[in-house]
Amino acid sequence: MANTPYPESYYAASANAVPPRPALQDDVETDVCVIGAGYTGMSSALFLLENGFKVTVLEAAKVGFGASGRNGGQIVNSYSRDIDVIERTVGPKQAQLLGQMAFEGGRIIRERVARYNIQCDLKDGGVFAAMTAKQMGHLESQKRLWERFGHTQLELMDQRRIREVVACDQYVGGMLDMSGGHIHPLNLALGEAAAVESLGGTIYEQSPAVRIERGANPVVHTPQGKVRAKFIIVAGNAYLGNLVPELAAKSMPCGTQVITTEPLGEELARTLLPQDYCVEDCNYLLDYYRLSGDKRLIFGGGVVYGARDPANIEAIIRPKMLKAFPQLKDVKIDYAWTGNFLLTLSRLPQVGRLGDNIYYSQGCSGHGVTYTHLAGKVLAEALRGQAERFDAFADLPHYPFPGGQLLRTPFAALGAWYYGLRDKFGY
Ligand SMILES: Cc1cc2nc3c(=O)[nH]c(=O)nc-3n(C[C@H](O)[C@H](O)[C@H](O)COP(=O)(O)OP(=O)(O)OC[C@H]3O[C@@H](n4cnc5c(N)ncnc54)[C@H](O)[C@@H]3O)c2cc1C
Repeated sequence: MANTPYPESYYAASANAVPPRPALQDDVETDVCVIGAGYTGMSSALFLLENGFKVTVLEAAKVGFGASGRNGGQIVNSYSRDIDVIERTVGPKQAQLLGQMAFEGGRIIRERVARYNIQCDLKDGGVFAAMTAKQMGHLESQKRLWERFGHTQLELMDQRRIREVVACDQYVGGMLDMSGGHIHPLNLALGEAAAVESLGGTIYEQSPAVRIERGANPVVHTPQGKVRAKFIIVAGNAYLGNLVPELAAKSMPCGTQVITTEPLGEELARTLLPQDYCVEDCNYLLDYYRLSGDKRLIFGGGVVYGARDPANIEAIIRPKMLKAFPQLKDVKIDYAWTGNFLLTLSRLPQVGRLGDNIYYSQGCSGHGVTYTHLAGKVLAEALRGQAERFDAFADLPHYPFPGGQLLRTPFAALGAWYYGLRDKFGY
């Protein structure tokens, strides 16, 4: 049987030791079968176990194999589309609920890390960096907007102030969110998996769900076994393929790439990011970076629509890093990898139910570290019969990409090219 390892990332190389997990080779029965062991799957499993459900997780490869074990590690609050846009689409009542939840994922992560003693280099503080006056104006209105929903740990920074927290001359200002921050993403997923098992949950690795038999008593089939469940949670996100065709139609896997330098040493690291905050810029095709626990720079950016793996990742991302930090021109890149996130046309997550017993959440379109943790809670609430917050997400409208499955990739790339040009010329 195929044994899919982690990609060769810095995270895999610095992962905490975990016991091997078996592939499913039996017929098992459970209350909830979770498909996918990323943050959505792990968060759902944990909330369900804490509420007395029996949970079995199927993972096609290894815990955190997908975006959850490869991402920039940035705890970024809110959604990939802002609440004012949501408000205009769905009206004030639904927007109010979604706005109140916009910062909950970060709290859930911190609560998990503390409760289950997860070793994942958690640091507080995330910076949104503005490259133009227009972007700065957007941050000012975003601060007012988020404060309207009760999120008040935000500080606007002028050019002088942002230069105190990041040694990059590209920014005219920014916004600091002390409820943002960063983590070693794979170690967070692995710690959550250990927590799932400590509560009696079972995780099978190298066990892809290959077919779902729908109906009153659904069955999930893997190559060598099956899981009979009362409920199924589909949490495969950009790696799900066509297992659930209804979900593939309105979303598109996209790749983004990350590089990691050799260790910089305390002194150089401190000159770049003195307070050890993470940073993302405000461009449509944004760059994001931070220091690792052992003081490397982890730098990500770029989007590949349709999720093809680029041949030379370092050649794409290193110039972006050097533009931000020319002082790193002699620094070696130790790791480069790619990972897939799932884009929706609205850039809002797709959440819902197929029939009575198959639930899903996917497609947070780039900013998913916090949202996926919230999603687990909201899905667990829905399975317990409290669906108000689940419905606030499930009622968001979603549309297919222009061009359908065949032409959606070039159309989206064209759109991104247009927005990339706008970024470049400061519109
Ligand atoms: C390179 C990169 C950088 C990013 N940086 C950030 C960031 O800094 N901040 C941020 O907020 N967001 C970031 N994101 C987005 C964020 O990582 C994702 O939104 C989030 O991790 C998605 O979690 P998930 O659990 O839904 O999906 P995933 O983590 O992708 O997990 C899905 C899992 O399901 C498994 N699976 C799929 N199909 C099956 C099947 N049929 N049977 C069994 N298992 C299956 C996969 O193997 C995988 O392990 C980034 C994404 C990428 C790719």
